[in-house]
Amino acid sequence: MSRTAYRPSSSARIDLHTHSTASDGTLSPAELVQAAADAGLDVLAITDHDTTAGWEAAVQALPPGLTLVRGAEISCHWDGMDPPVPLHLLAYLFDPAETELAAELARIRSARVIRGERIVTLLRADGIDISWPEILASAGGGAVGRPHIAAALIRAGLVTTTAEAFAPRWLGERYRLPKDDLEVFHAVRLVRAAGGVPVFAHPRATRRGEIVPDSLIVELAAAGLAGVEADHEDHSRAERAHVAALAAELGLLVTGASDFHGTHKSVQLGAYTTRSEVYERIVEEASGVSPIASG
Ligand code: AMP
Ligand code: FE
Ligand code: FE
Ligand code: ZN
Repeated sequence: MSRTAYRPSSSARIDLHTHSTASDGTLSPAELVQAAADAGLDVLAITDHDTTAGWEAAVQALPPGLTLVRGAEISCHWDGMDPPVPLHLLAYLFDPAETELAAELARIRSARVIRGERIVTLLRADGIDISWPEILASAGGGAVGRPHIAAALIRAGLVTTTAEAFAPRWLGERYRLPKDDLEVFHAVRLVRAAGGVPVFAHPRATRRGEIVPDSLIVELAAAGLAGVEADHEDHSRAERAHVAALAAELGLLVTGASDFHGTHKSVQLGAYTTRSEVYERIVEEASGVSPIASG
């Protein structure tokens, strides 16, 4: 393993947002890094929801030629609207042992367990025979979420796809419960305090109908946000251009990434990528952990 700075060529393929079975992806961390190498990626970030549980297995399985960026996608909310808007904050290369951030992530994961069991209780009360212990086990000790319940609904033959399980009559509304999370300005400060680099994930796709104003990104930039994820499948071409232009005005980095979830979504690894200069800036700003290359 090498922890020395890897300097990617300008043509390097860099995907900075992916999920494994440590949260709601369908590939194990080991399968994820292998799939990234098979897809021809040079740099991959593993960014499971609210957990670093997949890091070690990803490092151990790292194929030659692939550089791994350890990260997470933190569940957050912004209080500027009523009700508060849920947001996702990507955090790269933070120190997983930094106590305050680690404690908050642990709290969010415990709350996910309680909420998941409550959702399953509601479903079971309506005669839907799915098993909470089985669903919890399917999260493999990482962060359990609605996609794990969606998979159980598919196994039970009640829906055929994850997207269908997220329809209003299922997990999208009827059996949706709020999730515990972090206030987004607090999260930015905690990530920086842990030596990490915070990037606002898919800022124009927070929740259907609830688009946060540009003024929030202006304020987050002043509070320590490093970048914004512009190139994402949930953004239209116009939204990507808008986010990139705002970032240029504010001096924020612009990333692009697949947000790969295995078979839970149709997007493929490397579908959107980040420029090598941006990757280098992220590495320079980080002081928690380093990228890792095998070989
Ligand atoms: P949770 O964190 O438990 O609220 O679940 C949210 C996760 O579900 C997101 O991170 C997505 O991966 C996934 N998700 C949300 N909406 C959909 C959808 N319409 N189809 C498939 N997956 C979705
Ligand atoms: Fe997800
Ligand atoms: Fe997200
Ligand atoms: Zn994601």
